[in-house]
Amino acid sequence: MRLPFRTTRWLRSSRTWSILGTLAPIGMLIVSGLMLLDLRQDAWDKAQETSRNLLQVIERDIARNIEIVDLSLRAVVDNLSAPGVSGISPELRQLVLFDRSVTATDIGVMLVLDENGDSIIDANAVPARHVNNADRDYFRTHRAQPGLGLVISRPVLSRLLGVPIVVLSRRIDKADGRFGGVVLISLKLSYFSQLFANIGLGSEGAINLYLRDGTRIMRHPYVEADIGANVAGAPTFQRFVSDRGGHFVGTSVRDGIERLYTYTQVGNLPLILNVALATEDIEAEWRAKALVIGLIVLTLCGLTIGLSLLFGRELRHRATMQAELARLSVTDALTGLPNRRRFEDEFAGWAARAAGTATPRALLVVDADHFKSVNDRYGHAVGDAVLRGLAECLSASVHRPGDLVCRVGGEEFVMLLADTDETGAQRIAEKVHAEVAKLGVASAGIAPGSITVSVGLASCPGQAGTVLPDLYRLADAALYEAKAAGRNRTRSARLREITPAGPPFVTSALGTA
Ligand code: GH3
Ligand code: MG
Ligand code: MG
Repeated sequence: MRLPFRTTRWLRSSRTWSILGTLAPIGMLIVSGLMLLDLRQDAWDKAQETSRNLLQVIERDIARNIEIVDLSLRAVVDNLSAPGVSGISPELRQLVLFDRSVTATDIGVMLVLDENGDSIIDANAVPARHVNNADRDYFRTHRAQPGLGLVISRPVLSRLLGVPIVVLSRRIDKADGRFGGVVLISLKLSYFSQLFANIGLGSEGAINLYLRDGTRIMRHPYVEADIGANVAGAPTFQRFVSDRGGHFVGTSVRDGIERLYTYTQVGNLPLILNVALATEDIEAEWRAKALVIGLIVLTLCGLTIGLSLLFGRELRHRATMQAELARLSVTDALTGLPNRRRFEDEFAGWAARAAGTATPRALLVVDADHFKSVNDRYGHAVGDAVLRGLAECLSASVHRPGDLVCRVGGEEFVMLLADTDETGAQRIAEKVHAEVAKLGVASAGIAPGSITVSVGLASCPGQAGTVLPDLYRLADAALYEAKAAGRNRTRSARLREITPAGPPFVTSALGTA
């Protein structure tokens, strides 16, 4: 399939390739930039979804277990006031009060404390192991205020077990409403640490469980110093308490790392749970991909720019070569003057334009006299030097931009003179004779004045409808006359009558110099 000329010319232009070489890389950069942004968004979406799912699973587990514990606490409170319970034996009372289902491994102790904080009933021992917890916060809170319901303590070290625990407790009211003590079940912190363990959250990810007052109950990965620390003043924590759940990107006051925090309140409990993934970890995979894609795209852009620059340079080089070839094809190699081909083109153009204009034109045919003998006497190389000298003489004889001097044969030149009448052309011919009279080749012993030329002059008056083709033949005939008359002279001929239609009709050649 052949492409239309316009398209192929467009494709051959070095400018086209420069533009394509710029636009293509810009396009590639924009598309890959958008693609990378999209991939980054995917990484964040995935991180949010993972955090949400994880948070939900952990939150349900904690809420359900605490609910079970609380049900047991309520049962103890209710059963303590049941008629007859105070009168039965301690063994039987222990069986009646405590539900065996809460003797799981994560449960620490289950105790009933009297109004002085002394243990009076112990789910694991009859008689109860002695302990006084009147100094504990939860005990003092319940004693100070009735109707608090379930109270969850800060992490403390269990006096009976020696392990870190949180205490879940409810107040026992006497029949008259006065403070009658506390029933408590302690939950080992190992429950939380085991629940959070084995969850992969990247190198800087974390799971935190806080009390609503800002006390940290557990953190994964586990660092002992974190447990019991209060972060109520941290900006991130203030966002946790401002809403029941949500997510945001914030910087941790603990280690200065930026993380995506996904948080929720645990059931209706005064607990806040969060899953925090480090921004660095979320984007790590994307960064690696972006680096590879970026390098590939930059390499491709570099290649595209390089190739289009090379291609553009090659096209420019070709265009210059073509222009040079075109110039050489209409230039005479010896003298550097336009050659016969250029003369014919120019003369044809003249003829085509002549009909529309009314300016006079003249043509000189200049031929070296006895040039053969110059060659014979001084050699071909000197003959060439004379020809170059003649070319300079002729060029020096004209000055107007529209004038054209050509070498049309061995020692024959033509001068096209635009907007010049016969008188003007004769002046140029005289100038030619004068310039040639000064020509000599000192190295070969050719003195000025030894080279002469004969000139045939043909002119046509400025008149619309003029037809030119015979002007050259006329000038040639005039040159013949000049030769016949003894050389070193000019003979003139003029196109006298013009027929507007049909072939030009030359009636006669006129004039002598
Ligand atoms: P006339 O006065 O009648 O014009 O005589 P002439 O000798 O100049 O004319 P003729 O046509 O007999 O000879 C022209 C000579 O020009 C013959 C040729 O050797 C010489 N010539 C043609 N082209 C070149 C060229 O490029 N270099 C040199 N050195 N000589 C050339
Ligand atoms: Mg000659
Ligand atoms: Mg000749």
